Amino acid sequence: MILDRFRIEGKKALVTGAAAGLGQAIAIALAEAGADVACHGNTRTPDATCEQIEELGSRALTVTGDLAERDTPRLIFGETLAAFGTLDILVNNAGTIRRAPAVEYSEEDWTHVLEVNLSSVFRLSQLVGRHMLEHGQGGKIINIASLLSFQGGINVAAYTAAKSGVAGLTRALANEWARHRINVNAIAPGYIRTDNTVALQRDETRNRQILERIPAGRWGDPVDLAGAALFLASPASDYLHGHVLVVDGGWMGR
Ligand code: NAP
Repeated sequence: MILDRFRIEGKKALVTGAAAGLGQAIAIALAEAGADVACHGNTRTPDATCEQIEELGSRALTVTGDLAERDTPRLIFGETLAAFGTLDILVNNAGTIRRAPAVEYSEEDWTHVLEVNLSSVFRLSQLVGRHMLEHGQGGKIINIASLLSFQGGINVAAYTAAKSGVAGLTRALANEWARHRINVNAIAPGYIRTDNTVALQRDETRNRQILERIPAGRWGDPVDLAGAALFLASPASDYLHGHVLVVDGGWMGR
């Protein structure tokens, strides 16, 4: 049955940045499909996400840490493994954005955005990929990219560089690990209503310009990413490798 290929009952997942926004919606979607989920938080604790996961009958675990710190991936991976015994699904969702014209962009902002949005994705994927290779059971790694994995943006040089790097890293890891039944893919969300985009939503002119370009005629909601995330986390995507799946209401087609 084709629907059986979307089942992930008993699988163990780790979702970074799961306290709110896209990470929360993805963590809950994975739990709805039967997975146990380790929810990572940094400045916010993912208590609300964990409560909903437990109400669904799945196991939830809280792990915390600043992904700008080099050691955080090792710590949160270690805690997840200690609690769950294994890891089948990694969602590299945590991300940050700092805006400034390129000529004024500070070294500190550049380093912070690259560390959180790209280097930590590599570090965590390396740990999880190594575990999956040793385990021999395959697995799923899902990176959250962006439309700025394809486009340049304005005043967001570090974010664009990092998210373009995430798309390249997705393909690079897929090339190495596909034969070991490890699927590395990414989702590139369009304009989604989250805390990250509040400033854009409130800016009347930018909001109008954005809506005019989206064929679907509306902003996305975090739940609009849930189907794509479950697809990439489940056996339904077993032959998909190194793909960046755009979920944008049609934006990139314009
Ligand atoms: P959000 O609610 O602000 O979520 C960002 C998440 O990243 C938060 O959970 C945050 O954790 C975590 N995070 C930020 N800095 C961190 C750090 N230094 N260490 C560890 N975690 C950190 O916004 P969102 O829109 O859901 O963003 C989720 C992902 O989607 C990001 O990678 C973003 O770039 C990407 N994205 C979003 C959109 C959109 O339209 N919303 C479009 C394209 C791509 P805490 O809250 O616990 O600090």
